[in-house]
Amino acid sequence: MRWPAPTWPGPICLRRTGALTAASWRRSWCSSSSPAPAAASRWLPDLASSKKLGAFSITEPAAGSDATATKTTAIRDGDHYVLNGTKIFVSNGEVADTYVVFASTNPARGARGISAFVVEKGAPGFGFGKKERKMGIRANPTRELVFQNCRIPKENLLHKEGFGLFTAQTTFDCSRPGVAAQALGIAQGALDETIAYVRRRRQFGLPISGFQAIQHMIADCATQIEASRALLYATAKAMDRALKPAYDKAIADREIIYDVMNRLGVKRWTKESAMCKLYCSDVAMKVTTDCVQMCGGIGYMADFPVEKYMRDAKITQIYEGTNQIQRNEIAMMLVKELASAEKAEG
Ligand SMILES: Cc1cc2nc3c(=O)[nH]c(=O)nc-3n(C[C@H](O)[C@H](O)[C@H](O)COP(=O)(O)OP(=O)(O)OC[C@H]3O[C@@H](n4cnc5c(N)ncnc54)[C@H](O)[C@@H]3O)c2cc1C
Repeated sequence: MRWPAPTWPGPICLRRTGALTAASWRRSWCSSSSPAPAAASRWLPDLASSKKLGAFSITEPAAGSDATATKTTAIRDGDHYVLNGTKIFVSNGEVADTYVVFASTNPARGARGISAFVVEKGAPGFGFGKKERKMGIRANPTRELVFQNCRIPKENLLHKEGFGLFTAQTTFDCSRPGVAAQALGIAQGALDETIAYVRRRRQFGLPISGFQAIQHMIADCATQIEASRALLYATAKAMDRALKPAYDKAIADREIIYDVMNRLGVKRWTKESAMCKLYCSDVAMKVTTDCVQMCGGIGYMADFPVEKYMRDAKITQIYEGTNQIQRNEIAMMLVKELASAEKAEG
């Protein structure tokens, strides 16, 4: 028996999953969300034009979901900071030119002692450790970063000392919809491939697309994808409308975006961006699993694209904060909102 030829156009797959674009976009975003104006003009043009790649590095062996447990230190020494520690699981590791690195400038202050820095590839004392072997998104390298008395100019501090976790959270507010978009692309790509396959594949003398069991799975997948798209697009549009004036003003006045957001009373988008990431990634995992099922044995084979979509979908439930952490944040924000509303009513 001949299986239908796999339809696996590599570049199209990358475009569909958006894996690389999402990764580089969100890394670059982080760098753009907070640097002082001088720093911004040094790094942002090349990042924005994709001449250079960025990376975002907060995770450590003992600080995953709990970033407050950061052990990497950055101690001020004259006009420099000296970094020591190890970061793990860094997307774009080694291929990126600039790394946003979170380190404690004041360990005694715990979470409030963490600060964000830009470290350039080639900085003295900055090296790369283990390259991870992964289930999915293998086109993007994931690496360990090692800092051994790494000296960087004091100007590489983003915003102010102690604002690291705030920088990280504000970055996540904008980057989580990027992961949601990646998940949406993966789910759509898997379903497109699957519908094409079930139309061609015949069993019991009929195309398997004629069986109601398959039709219902297709209908459920397509409906969940459309619901993801609606949530993500609505959120992205609302965020654009709300944030653009603040970003335009920050650029025009060469001010730090946080300060402008605070002054203009622009709200944070933590809850909505977490909802997008949570929902779209859970849908991507379910849809890709169902697509493998609809394709049967060939769906499980590495020669056929759908198994890759399933492997790639999994990461969207894990990085940029696991989906358990998204749920925690959504619930926390809802409780806070109600508490503030009650306080306002007196
Ligand atoms: C391929 C890949 C690329 C990555 N890229 C980057 C990157 O570019 N930069 C970067 O800094 N990091 C990156 N990460 C790290 C990623 O963000 C972390 O793996 C993720 O945040 C989870 O941390 P952890 O692995 O330490 O899991 P843990 O924090 O140990 O969590 C293990 C389990 O416990 C659950 N859990 C933990 N705390 C709670 C809680 N309070 N409530 C409920 N459940 C909880 C988690 O949801 C999870 O199911 C990447 C990871 C991978 C796999």
